[in-house]
Amino acid sequence: MSNKDLLERSLAAVWHPCTQMKQHARGKQALPMIPIASGKGVWLHDFDGRRYLDGISSWWVNLFGHCNPRINAALRDQLEQLEHVILAGCTHRPVIELSERLSTLTLGQLGHCFYASDGASATEIALKMSFHAWRNQGRREKQEFLCLSGSYHGETVGALAVTDVALFKDAYAPLIRPATTVATPDARLAKDGETAADVARRAAAALECQLDEHHLHIAALIVEPLIQCASGMAMYDPEYLRLARSLCDRYEVHLICDEIAVGCGRTGTFFAHEQAGIRPDFLCLSKGISGGYLPLSMVLTTDSVYAAFYDDSVSRGFLHSHSYTGNALACRAALATLDIFAEDQVIDANRGLAEHLGSCLQPLADHPQVRHLRRRGMVAAFDVLSDDPRFSERFYRQALANGILLRPIGNTVYFMPPYVISRDECEFLATRAIAALDSALRE
Ligand SMILES: *Cc1c(COP(=O)(O)O)cnc(C)c1O
Repeated sequence: MSNKDLLERSLAAVWHPCTQMKQHARGKQALPMIPIASGKGVWLHDFDGRRYLDGISSWWVNLFGHCNPRINAALRDQLEQLEHVILAGCTHRPVIELSERLSTLTLGQLGHCFYASDGASATEIALKMSFHAWRNQGRREKQEFLCLSGSYHGETVGALAVTDVALFKDAYAPLIRPATTVATPDARLAKDGETAADVARRAAAALECQLDEHHLHIAALIVEPLIQCASGMAMYDPEYLRLARSLCDRYEVHLICDEIAVGCGRTGTFFAHEQAGIRPDFLCLSKGISGGYLPLSMVLTTDSVYAAFYDDSVSRGFLHSHSYTGNALACRAALATLDIFAEDQVIDANRGLAEHLGSCLQPLADHPQVRHLRRRGMVAAFDVLSDDPRFSERFYRQALANGILLRPIGNTVYFMPPYVISRDECEFLATRAIAALDSALRE
């Protein structure tokens, strides 16, 4: 089998996500599609013997490398015991242990864990739970949600209501009951002399106005803590989360932290919200939690939300159901992932590694067409000054030609490598990215 055979078959039969399929069929100008034969650590190998460094953790999911021996072993063991069982009326060890360990990671403050398989479903569950908890408490008028401008919380019809990315949302506008967007604390909005914390306070003041006027009708505010990833790695100061938490308390509004992308150590702490010293009422996790192996997501919540559903009446329960809820293999992959965090003291080890990645990218700070070089934990990004509407496509192609997989979001180039990347591989990734940038700008 060669790349070419597989490419043709894929384009004929597979409808790829987030893709205008015709872009892959323009002859010489076509966007490349790489058939991947195998993966090992940070490397992806194609069918023609070339390899690519996975600089985006395969859409932000892979933490400890492809074909990680420890996760593979745990899954083999689990396969011999139980692959899956209905989670209504039955339970199993991996789902119990995972729920207990996630609760412990929140110091017991988010001690109730509800499962699904993808991030968008976790968003929908959090929205439904928030609304239903208020309803059960006699607050039926709380039916509205707030999200930040530039927010991304998934692409099902319900999740699009709290997503503010025009490209993904506009076509479906007639189907959506949109949330209200409030100012983003994106640090790039700092005016002369303003710090990131000043921008955060300005955004929190706008949130306060919104809440002051409408809080009686608002169920929850949903945020991506510290980094709004999908709209272009917009990073912001933890001060915003502190202020948002206290405003939500004051106005009786739930705070939902969507840590689907930023959880699991990505920003330098296991949960991003820890950096603000707060806890949300709902915490959504997915992506990295299964190490990038299997679809798994969850919503963690508090005793008080749980108590709002606990009743003799069935209809006051949270009846959301999903066939694969709490899949045993996915939960076991997550347990193996949490084991690696503990055994290798990953959060500590990542600190030096992330700084190293940052210093490898430092030469870009002086690049005439680069703005806002930034990093938080194991996420680094920069914006490119270019009027070329096809910059991201050109960069993507040049990056592949340089042996690295990176997918810019518009003019924002970002790096989100697996945590098993070595220091040498960080240097390789940075050097090749700089080469790809210059080639893309010259094209
Ligand atoms: C990726 C993402 C989602 C959606 O997760 P899917 O598994 O792709 O549905 C939701 N919120 C955030 C912040 C994300 O990054």
